[in-house]
This record gives sequence, structure tokens and C-alpha cells, in this order.
Amino acid sequence: MKQKILIKNTTVVNEGKSVLADVLLSDGFIQQIGTINIEPNYKVIDGTGKHLFPGIIDGQVHFRDPGLTHKGDLYTESKAAIAGGVTSFIDMPNTVPNILTVESLKEKYEIASKKSLANYSFFLGVNGENIDAIIKTDTSQFIGVSDDGLYFTKKGNLLADNPETMEKLFANCKSIIAIHSEKEEIIEHNEKAFREKYGDDIPAKFHPIIRSTEGCYEATKRAIELAKKHNARLHILHLTTEAETHLFQNDIPLQEKKITTEVSVHHLWFSDKDYERLGMLIKWNPAIKTEEDKDGLLKALLDDKIDIITTDHAPHTLEEKQQPYFQSMSGAPMVQHSLNCMLEFYKQDLISLEKIVEKMCHNPAILYGITNRGFIRKGYYADLTLVDLNNQWTVAKDNLLYKCAWSPLEGTTFHTKIIQTFVNGKLIYDHGIFQENSFGMPIEFSNK
Ligand SMILES: [Zn+2]
Repeated sequence: MKQKILIKNTTVVNEGKSVLADVLLSDGFIQQIGTINIEPNYKVIDGTGKHLFPGIIDGQVHFRDPGLTHKGDLYTESKAAIAGGVTSFIDMPNTVPNILTVESLKEKYEIASKKSLANYSFFLGVNGENIDAIIKTDTSQFIGVSDDGLYFTKKGNLLADNPETMEKLFANCKSIIAIHSEKEEIIEHNEKAFREKYGDDIPAKFHPIIRSTEGCYEATKRAIELAKKHNARLHILHLTTEAETHLFQNDIPLQEKKITTEVSVHHLWFSDKDYERLGMLIKWNPAIKTEEDKDGLLKALLDDKIDIITTDHAPHTLEEKQQPYFQSMSGAPMVQHSLNCMLEFYKQDLISLEKIVEKMCHNPAILYGITNRGFIRKGYYADLTLVDLNNQWTVAKDNLLYKCAWSPLEGTTFHTKIIQTFVNGKLIYDHGIFQENSFGMPIEFSNK
């Protein structure tokens, strides 16, 4: 008889409620939730005093595979994700090669099937050159299109800087269009002014003045106008300013929204006060902005103008980060600690457990049309994470799983700990130990 896993006597956090229950996993799926008697073929896990969450679905990561694997790869970064309670992720197209065709997309799926311990999906990249091909492609072949990260390879690759390309895409592409929303023109103007004053050595604290609120707001406002005109399905990635939050709606359910947005954990966690301490380590695009922006983003998350939480996990080596302003790479690793960060806000009474689960698990599934994941429901994939809400530990080099081996959170003490993570019904992470050679699955989705 096949072994089943019974998680006994745990607090199940799901769909707006936290309820004491047992959960039975069988053949990759959730078979039963309620009061369940132990049978001889059950492996029993005592969940007493612990909380069971649906596995997190991270809608924006850069795992660097293929081509940039000195920074991270689908094996190392998916392990870090799982240790952080993340069981599924959607990866961005700015690998080498850039993922600009369905053929390269298929190759990436092939690599993931042999390396990723978590479930995976991938954006198809879009720029001015492949737009005609994308418009002709059957949208059921990809979860969404995105320009995120592609501007690193070539200036002018952002849709926000190419209104005609963006409009053509909105008019003709029915899939989710996820954009990096900043106006390069405004940024370049600011860069020039600071370069005149500081040369190459611009202090990190000026990053949010260069990649300014205006640069974000103008791009987001324009993108929303154009998407509305064409009734397109627009998703604005990693929102960073309080000002932009007012451009989004909260008076209709997520299922009905044509225009959605997200916040990345670091924009809720850090503010411009941290540049002094962390310098280029917290250089992200779009930039970490003010304390007021940070508070405004949390407020918009709580009142549903912001739909999901992502990490934008973007590992670089320390050497690539610790460079003068213009050479220092933007982005940092976050995927191992996103749930811990959010649970720290819970500890501070800033957000409920149910809201965290809504924004990190349920809503990414709804937003991307992901099938049978993101909820603790009978018949759904058993993607779960068991968390101890009273366990103190400190982020240090020796407990990081990233290939790049550093984190902007080193020295941070968390008061919650991820104990176990289940992927497709298997206990993949158990108190720091991984079940290796058990790979995730491609995420199934329905493109409406
Ligand atoms: Zn990104």
C-alpha cells in the first residue's frame, strides 16, 4: 500500500480563516481536511502548535538559468525558495539567451525539469523586435509576456519607453502583459545631473532620486491609460511609490480586474534610511524609496489596491554589487526570507496571517490563472509549508542557500521559522534537510 502523509493537529491558514485540523496528503494531492484517524500506512507529522500555509507562489523571480549561472541556477535558487516556504515560481526572461521565442521557452522548461525542486513557469520576453511574432503566438503556450530585466541587455527595451510598441501589444496580445514601469528618459536626465556632480561615484542614497517617483508614476499612469483604451490585461510589476497606488482599483474582485499590480517584499521591508547602512547591496530597480512610500505600499496591500506579493529575487555576486554606482548591478536575493519578512509584520500587528496567505498564495494563483494550486483544498496539489510562529533565529552566511552566498538581510533576527515544505505531496524540506532528486512540475494555467 502506498504511504500517505497525515499532518495532525495543525492550524490551517486558508481562505480567510485559521482552523485547527488534520490534513491528509495522498499521491501528490490533498485528499482530506478535517478530523482524520491514523491508519497503519500513514506517515504522521505532528503539527501541534504549528501553522500550515499553502505553499507560496512567487510571481517574479530571476533564477539566472541558463547563461548566468555564476549568480544562481534553477537548482540552488529553487532550494532556497523551498526553505522559505515557496513551492512555485514564475521566472523572468532576462537569462542568456533572453527568452524571446517559444523554442527558447521550451528549452528553459527542459532545464527546469532536471534542476528545479519547486514548481515552475516562465514569462516569454517581449521587446520591439519580437513583438510581431508574439502577437501571432498562441497565448496558451505561455503564462504571460514581460519586458522585465531585458533593459539590462539593451537600453530602450522597456515598453514604458516605447509607447507605440506598447500600444501595439495592448491592442493585439490577449495574455497577461507584465511590465517594468519606469521612464528611462526621466532617469537619464537625473543620471546626467548626478554624474556632473559626483562623477562615477554617486552615493547609493541618491538612487531613489535618480530612479525617481516621477519616473515610476509617469510610466505607470501612461501604461494604465493605454491598457484601458485597448481593454488589455496589464500587470505592473514591483510597485515602489505611494503615489502610484492611487492609480489602482479595489472596488472589484481580483477575478474581474484587467489591471493588476504587485509589491516586492524588499519595498515593504527597506526604506531610504537603509542606504547609509547597506549601500549598493539594496540597489534595486525600481529603487527603494522613502518611509512614506513603504507605509503607503503596505496600506495599499491591505486595502487590495495591490494584489500580490513577489520577491523579484535577483541574485548577483557580492563583487558585482560592490562597485561604483553605474557599475553596481541592480537586484538582490530575497526568496529564502519573503515569508519570514511578512510574518515579522504579522508579529508587529501590521497584517494578519490570512492576509499574508491571500497575497502570497491565493492571489498569485487567481491572477495568473494557475490550476489547482495556491489553496489548501481537497483535490488540489499538496503544496504546503509548516511554520513555527515562535522560533527565533538570525540570518547569517552559514544559513543562506543562495549560490551568491550573501543577503541584504544578514544580521536580521526573525521570530518565525519554516520547518517543513511539501511540494506535490512530497516532504522536500524537513528541518534543514532536503529530499534531493525530486523535481517540481510545470505550473498548469488557463489563459483566459
Ligand atoms: Zn524583476
